[in-house]
Amino acid sequence: MKAILLSSHGGPDLLQYGEIAPPEPKAGEVLVKLHAAALNRLDIWVRQGWPGIKLEYPHIPGADGAGEIAALGPGVTRWRVGQRVVINPGIGCGRCQLCREGHDNLCREWRLLGEQVRGTYAEFVAVSERQLYPIPAAASYRTAAAAALVYVTAWHSLVTRGNVRSSESVLVVGASGGVNTASIQVAHLLGAMVYVVASSPEKAELAKKLGADHVIDRSKDENWPKAVYELTEKRGADVIVDNVGTTYPQSFRAAAKGGRILTVGNTGGPKIEIDNRFIFGKHLSLIGSTMGTPYDFAAVMELVFSGRLEVALDRHYPLADARAAQERLEKGEQMGKITLEIG
Ligand code: ZN
Repeated sequence: MKAILLSSHGGPDLLQYGEIAPPEPKAGEVLVKLHAAALNRLDIWVRQGWPGIKLEYPHIPGADGAGEIAALGPGVTRWRVGQRVVINPGIGCGRCQLCREGHDNLCREWRLLGEQVRGTYAEFVAVSERQLYPIPAAASYRTAAAAALVYVTAWHSLVTRGNVRSSESVLVVGASGGVNTASIQVAHLLGAMVYVVASSPEKAELAKKLGADHVIDRSKDENWPKAVYELTEKRGADVIVDNVGTTYPQSFRAAAKGGRILTVGNTGGPKIEIDNRFIFGKHLSLIGSTMGTPYDFAAVMELVFSGRLEVALDRHYPLADARAAQERLEKGEQMGKITLEIG
C-alpha cells in the first residue's frame, strides 16, 4: 500500500511517500481502507521526537482517519465489510476493568494511533473494533477524519472532566488550534458564555464564527486577563481552557474564584512555573485529561454528523503531499483542520 513513511526523527523532509505491506487485522481488529486523514500537532512532535519515544520504523504518522471497512479480523461480528467508519485514535487494551467500564483513556496500556503504533497517513490501517464509529451517508470522510481527535479531546475535557454548565463563563486561550476551535464550539453548544483570546484579527473573526461571545485580540491588547476581568464585571472566568501552558500566569489571573483550569496539552512547552498563591488563594482547580472515552467519542461524533458541531476545515492535500501539509501546520498558517485525501 502507499503510505507516508518516517525512518528517523527530524524535519518534514524525512516524510517519504512510499510503499509498505498493508497491515493484517488481528483478532478483534478491523482493516480500514482510508479515504481521508487529518493532521494534528502531535504528528509534528512525533516526527521531531522526544526523549524516551520509541517508534517501530518505518513509522506511519497520523491519529485521525476515516474510510470503509475492507476486512474483518477473527471474532469481529458487529461490523461488516463496506461500512463507512471514523476512527477513535485512543487505544485501550479492551480487557482490563477500566476498559470494560468504558474508561479506555485511563487504561495502563493506553496508546495513541500514529504515536506508539502506525497511523493513518496510509491507504490501510488495522484498528480494534472498539475504536470505530459509523459515518452516516450524508457526512464526508474528510469531515469525520478532521473531527475525531480534536472533538473527542475537547468533549472529554469540557464535559466529562470539566463539567461545564450553561450558567458558566468559559475562556479559551487561543483560537486557531484544532482543540481550541472545537472547545469554543462545545462551550457554545453547552450554553456557556464564551470568551476567546485570539492572536490576530483573522483568528478573532474565526472565533466569532465558531460561537465566541467575546473575543480579545491580543495583538491589540496584550493584557488579556485585565480585559477578561472587565468583560466579566471583575469576576473572572469560571472555566479556562489553557492548552498553551506558558500562559498559566495570565490564566490564573483571569480565573474567577473557584475556577477550573482545563488542560489537554502544552503548545507553549512542557515546563511551567506556577505561582501557588493563585491556586489556593482563588480556590482554583487544575484539571488535566487526554483524549476521551468511547462514550465521549460516540456522543461528540453524533453532534458532528447532525451538524450541531461544524468542523472548521483548512486545506485538503493529496496523501503524497503530507510534507507540505505538515509544513503548513508547523507555520501555524491554518484556519481549521488540515486534511489528507487518500486513494
Ligand atoms: Zn485496558
